[in-house]
Amino acid sequence: VKRVYAFGKDADGNNVTEGNTSMKMVLGGKGANLAEMANIGLPVPPGFTITCQTCMEYANADNTWPEGALDTIREYREDLEARMGKRIGDAEDPLLVSVRSGAPMSMPGMMDTVLNLGLNDQSINGLIAQTENPRFAWDSYRRFIQMFSNVVMGLDGDLFENAITAMKNARGVASDTDLTAEDLQELVREFKDIFSENVLAADYPSLVVDGEVQFPQDPMVQLQLAIEAVFGSWNNPRATLYRKQNKIADDLGTAVNVQSMVFGNKGNTSATGVAFTRNPANGEAEFYGDYLVNAQGEDVVAGIRNTSPIAELKEVEGLEEAGLELEGIFTTLENHFRDMCDIEFTIEQGKLWMLQTRVGKRTAAAALHIAIEMEKEGLITKEEAVKRVDPEQLDQLLHPQFDKNATYDVLARGLNASPGAAVGEAVFSAADAVAAAEAGRKCVLVRWETNPDDLAGMIAAEGILTSHGGKTSHAAVIARGMGAPCVCGVESLKIDAEKKQAVVSGTDVVISEGDVVSIDGTSGIVVLGAVDLVMPELTGDLDTILEWADEFRTLGVRANADNPEDAALSRSFGAQGIGLCRTEHMFLGDRKQIIQTFILNEDEAVREKAVNDLFEAQTGDFYGMFKAMDGLPVIVRLLDPPLHEFLESPRALDVEIARMEATGADAAAVAEKRELMEKIDSFAEQNPMLGMRGCRLGIVYPILPVMQVRAIATAMAKLKKEGFDPKPEVMIPLVSVKAELEKLRGVAEKTIAEVEAEQGVTLEIPIGTMIELPRAAVTADDIAKHADFFSFGTNDLTQTTFGFSRDDVEGEFVPQYLAQHILPYNPFATIDRGVAKLVAMGVKLGHEGNPDLMCGVCGEHGGDPDSIHIFQECGVNYVSCSPYRVPIARLAAAQAAL
Ligand code: PEP
Ligand code: MG
Repeated sequence: VKRVYAFGKDADGNNVTEGNTSMKMVLGGKGANLAEMANIGLPVPPGFTITCQTCMEYANADNTWPEGALDTIREYREDLEARMGKRIGDAEDPLLVSVRSGAPMSMPGMMDTVLNLGLNDQSINGLIAQTENPRFAWDSYRRFIQMFSNVVMGLDGDLFENAITAMKNARGVASDTDLTAEDLQELVREFKDIFSENVLAADYPSLVVDGEVQFPQDPMVQLQLAIEAVFGSWNNPRATLYRKQNKIADDLGTAVNVQSMVFGNKGNTSATGVAFTRNPANGEAEFYGDYLVNAQGEDVVAGIRNTSPIAELKEVEGLEEAGLELEGIFTTLENHFRDMCDIEFTIEQGKLWMLQTRVGKRTAAAALHIAIEMEKEGLITKEEAVKRVDPEQLDQLLHPQFDKNATYDVLARGLNASPGAAVGEAVFSAADAVAAAEAGRKCVLVRWETNPDDLAGMIAAEGILTSHGGKTSHAAVIARGMGAPCVCGVESLKIDAEKKQAVVSGTDVVISEGDVVSIDGTSGIVVLGAVDLVMPELTGDLDTILEWADEFRTLGVRANADNPEDAALSRSFGAQGIGLCRTEHMFLGDRKQIIQTFILNEDEAVREKAVNDLFEAQTGDFYGMFKAMDGLPVIVRLLDPPLHEFLESPRALDVEIARMEATGADAAAVAEKRELMEKIDSFAEQNPMLGMRGCRLGIVYPILPVMQVRAIATAMAKLKKEGFDPKPEVMIPLVSVKAELEKLRGVAEKTIAEVEAEQGVTLEIPIGTMIELPRAAVTADDIAKHADFFSFGTNDLTQTTFGFSRDDVEGEFVPQYLAQHILPYNPFATIDRGVAKLVAMGVKLGHEGNPDLMCGVCGEHGGDPDSIHIFQECGVNYVSCSPYRVPIARLAAAQAAL
């Protein structure tokens, strides 16, 4: 197996790159694109990439090297030295390298990087001689020891920061840049001592010299340890969490890129920066990004110094040429990758070097805008434009915004780093954000700047607010990726994380933990207190892409809704009907009392009155629904849940009885309560989800389906007489044998005929069933003989196929199954292949029983893009999902068809 790939030029200027952009699974995203940039003639500092597979082999063998791998690395290192005409560790003219992670999928800032590798007590002299800049050389060496100790050896970064602070205090200076070469040389000595005192000899016996751990001087030892650390960082907790969050497989591994260092901190004709070829927040065609003069790579992203906008680069003295070349490269990269790219670059003494490029992360708004613009520019086709947008990401656009009519005082302004608005209690640490979310409280995470350790808190919070960092800072990049609102760089915010408060300079406002704040990541506004939020509408770019999607998709998209408002909303989002109206949702509130009367009374007259009341109420419900969906199908499902769900909890009653007794309540009142409790208890089942529910209810209490069908037919008749075009359909849930359907179909048909006669209208109401039990799926040919349509209830079908309780999936074992990879994903979120087989079988057999059968899916999976791809293969006609997911499903369905 080939484990190492070279990139860049040889000593004669010939390209000796071995990889290319298609090799991301082998070389990682960074390695594959460094190779690609070298191949298309862009200036890339030479280096080599160690494969992702080597990382996994190393990890799977308990962190031991595959045979021969270290020899290959040594060969490539020597080759790199030959190409550069310099040796690592050389005392005259040393080569320095960076060692960077680079996984197949971008995982920004989650894994480790070591810079300036190769410095030791000999090569420092070479660096001084070559640069004639002792201060720069000693600063590089102290940075290397610091980074190596922290990243590779896991020492606490504060040990070094404290030493720097002590040095600054001793010299009476405020800034790192005021320390002299001698000060830095002294710091190097101190850093080496810190290393010796804190690294355990038992952990690193090979680093022991003369009985004491020493900072490694041998560059090959430095290199091996750094590579091992980068490999190890694949499985660090934050990387593992990030993968889980972004559905990235755990077995991909990371590549390691060893690359010759170039320096952006060699004076005022040197610079470093990050940029996007278009605006990643709104998609506008403009160069976007930040740079810092005389700085090293991580300074820009870390938000330590305030950066300048990239468009100004070509106007800076000494950087004009590099600035212009960079803009040319932006265009080259866009034309080559036919997408918006993000870039890291360094200018070393006027010479531009490209350190990274990849297809850039962007907000949903930017994704839409860029796809549409690139189609107009002729760079991509309409199909590609539709495929470019991640359906899941559209969710961001369906996020809340500040209500235009709301009034509020702007407390502070920052950069509009990630769109959408959030309201929540201020919290000042990631842990507090997680705690608030777990307690069900909405929060906004307020930080000086975020770092990868804050990830869990960023996920838990509604939004992110920082006082530092630009639009390419950690907080901004991660928030955009997650679709979380983010305002960053609010300089007036003076945060004291320890005290859990922030002071707004120029005001006497103090934001303390728990104070509600509102942020608008679209405008960069921060408000003290809660601002009313509204949902946005489908307009502009979103509407355009969805219209394009509609041209390609073959699956219909309907909505699950059970009130006229949701129905109207889903219609405005493009729903082509209601795939599931859960009528039990119409039995809540005041209605609960009525259904309780029906369930708990044996007196026929009382029951009949209750059913009559329900009929009146339901007729009104259906009237509203059918009117909102005029001309489109509305599938009404007959009552489904076990009846005890409408009753009070016997346990609560038991507590109440005990309290009554303890406070000496009237014996008769107590007896009455006890009777009620016993009655309710008599409805209790061991497995209610497998008990008296679905069609079984209608068979035991035929008065219920008669009432519901009568209400449907009556509402329909009324609308027809008013000139509308209502299209209800009746759906019978939880059927397992055809006789159930046959019987209830008979009841429904008879009722419809009665209403037709009473009202003097003809009512065409298709009657169908849900397929949500395995037996129904495997005997679908029989069942279809009595059905006009099938709707696959994949929630129950998943529950009954696996024998997993859908109400307890968050509990003990399913999370364990996911962690142990016994299940690849939660089958209640994305349809399982086994369950999908039952769906496919149900569709196929169903058509044998009834060639005109219409088939849909109305479980939660109907709104899940990955599941939609699978349903496309199953041959269903449409999916049905919650109103807000309708746009997502339209796009996913188009992608499934393409
Ligand atoms: C289903 O089971 O998938 C379904 C849509 O019905 P419910 O979720 O109401 O049980
Ligand atoms: Mg169901």
